[in-house]
Amino acid sequence: MTELTIIMYHYVRPIIGSEFPGIKGLEIEGFKRQLDFLESNYSIVSSEQVIDKIINNKALPSKACWLTFDDGYKDHYQYVLPELVKRNLSGAFFPPRVAIQENEMLDVNSIHHILSSSNDINKLVDDLKNLCLKLGISGDKIHEYYKKYGVANRFDKAETKFFKRMLQYVLPEQMRKEILSILFKKVVGISEAELSSKLYMSVDEVQKLVSSGMYVGSHGSMHYRLDSIDFQKQKDDILSSLEFLEEVGAPTSNWIMCYPYGAYNYATLSLLREQGASIGVTIEVRKANLGIDHPFKLPRLDTNDFPQ
Ligand SMILES: [Zn+2]
Repeated sequence: MTELTIIMYHYVRPIIGSEFPGIKGLEIEGFKRQLDFLESNYSIVSSEQVIDKIINNKALPSKACWLTFDDGYKDHYQYVLPELVKRNLSGAFFPPRVAIQENEMLDVNSIHHILSSSNDINKLVDDLKNLCLKLGISGDKIHEYYKKYGVANRFDKAETKFFKRMLQYVLPEQMRKEILSILFKKVVGISEAELSSKLYMSVDEVQKLVSSGMYVGSHGSMHYRLDSIDFQKQKDDILSSLEFLEEVGAPTSNWIMCYPYGAYNYATLSLLREQGASIGVTIEVRKANLGIDHPFKLPRLDTNDFPQ
């Protein structure tokens, strides 16, 4: 059994004093301190080494640690890449095609920015309910949704949970997009299009990650929750993400899948097999045990689980 610590990163940037100080992410200085910690306590391995272990059972060093970066943020090009290159390290990057090629905001990021730009969740919930009414959802239905989805957990209070869930998956896709774009403009003060070009890497920047020796893998094309769409839609989404990988010069054999929201089902796993993937990473929170864990279901820890 080989233990592998896989760490997941999202935003890595100067946050205090920035345009979006309410965004929950990792300060670049914290990232550097974390790399110092990891370099002295672990062996940071490349994606190629992990693939070689999975495919050819080539041994990994003890206390192996693998760095993964989700969602294609410009942070990864601007701050992470130079730091990794300086330290002669390599990481795995998973940009969703739509954010890079079409410059479209991912719903999850629009929601983060709306919530972090507002300090009145009750007002946001009122706005959301009013927009739902306007778009034809009945008052009774909204009430029913609130009872079902407005349930607090250890991270969010009931109102926040309701807001997130309604806009993540409860409402129909077109309606979610419409409401998000109205609320975004109103609360964040700029359009989604304006932010997306600042938030995500360009195609050129993703190509530079590849040419700088970083690994770039699939995070889907549309950033769908794959377990919520049918086989054909999953297949189209995965194939389109592989075309994107080819365009940026990233490998498409023995490739790596990073499931958006960590969500997959049997159809996803059979598609991965059919399309020649070698590894799938999830958001189950623990260290991976290679040889025991299924290579398509590798768990990951979060940057917040380590000193920063
Ligand atoms: Zn994602």
